[in-house]
Amino acid sequence: MQAKIIDGKAIAEALRKRIAAAVTELKARHGLTPGLAVVLVGENPASQVYVRNKARQTVDVGMNSWEHKLEATIAEADLLGLIDRLNNDPAVHGILVQLPLPKHMNPDKVINTLDPDKDVDGFHVLNAGRLATGQEALVACTPVGCLILAKHALGKLDGLEAVVVGRSNIVGKPVAQLLLRENCTVTIAHSRTRDLPAVCRRADLLIAAVGRPRMVTADWIKPGACVIDVGINRIEENGKSRIVGDVDFAGAVEVAGAITPVPGGVGPMTIASLLRNTVCAACAQAGLPVPEMG
Ligand code: NDP
Repeated sequence: MQAKIIDGKAIAEALRKRIAAAVTELKARHGLTPGLAVVLVGENPASQVYVRNKARQTVDVGMNSWEHKLEATIAEADLLGLIDRLNNDPAVHGILVQLPLPKHMNPDKVINTLDPDKDVDGFHVLNAGRLATGQEALVACTPVGCLILAKHALGKLDGLEAVVVGRSNIVGKPVAQLLLRENCTVTIAHSRTRDLPAVCRRADLLIAAVGRPRMVTADWIKPGACVIDVGINRIEENGKSRIVGDVDFAGAVEVAGAITPVPGGVGPMTIASLLRNTVCAACAQAGLPVPEMG
């Protein structure tokens, strides 16, 4: 039987509509317009596309958007100066520094300079720590998107066997923390994991966040499992450039119970989660309850 395709595009669109409704209400009832500042250093083509999409979608849901584009050669101190100004600007509720940064900068230092309450990417060490210790936190956007999609497919995750392949600070670790919070039994696998296919076959919920095209094949998947594919890999195939995930979709769809496509799965959820985090940050800074957004 073919797996149910989890339509991240449609789920993200529905979430954006709820965010837009929440923003309309915040403006009307409290005179509060959430605002997101995005900082891009250098001219990485993929980063330029991401930043453009983020800015467009921020405006589309009725929020304020600011783009700060800096030369790749700018000194780290100047970037930190800009972050300081944004930290102190009351109209800016969320700040995102697009990664990767040029080689001469220390990304941890830059991210940890953000006001943690404006860190809508959830990468600040304080937000990572709050998540790990079960405290209220701004949580990284792609992991939040993965969780929403998994819940969409499975409902309650309580007691499920979850395997996360990948242990990066921006996807693997936070997604594992979120699943633990949902009472899954979580295994984090990585490049040193022994017999990775057997570990993956244990999973009721398998999250692949590796960055290796089609690494997870059908025989790694427990029949009926839910598969969330975070990977975005550009490959050349039959003379054409295309984007594929970390999962071999064509094979996996025959075994899994539900699966996200690439593109159109996790990707669209990332920006929607960013917008949601910005609304949450704006409400927290204004001392208002967070409106229901789902
Ligand atoms: P990283 O490169 O930071 O981490 C990759 C992880 O995969 C590492 O923990 C690494 O293990 C593990 N790994 C690498 N090779 C293997 C292997 N052969 N077997 C098992 N584990 C392996 O990547 P990210 O977490 O940043 O991103 C992962 C993927 O998700 C990428 O394709 C990226 O483009 C995509 N992505 C998608 C987003 C979206 O919005 N949809 C957002 C962010 C990322 P080890 O630690 O041992 O080296």
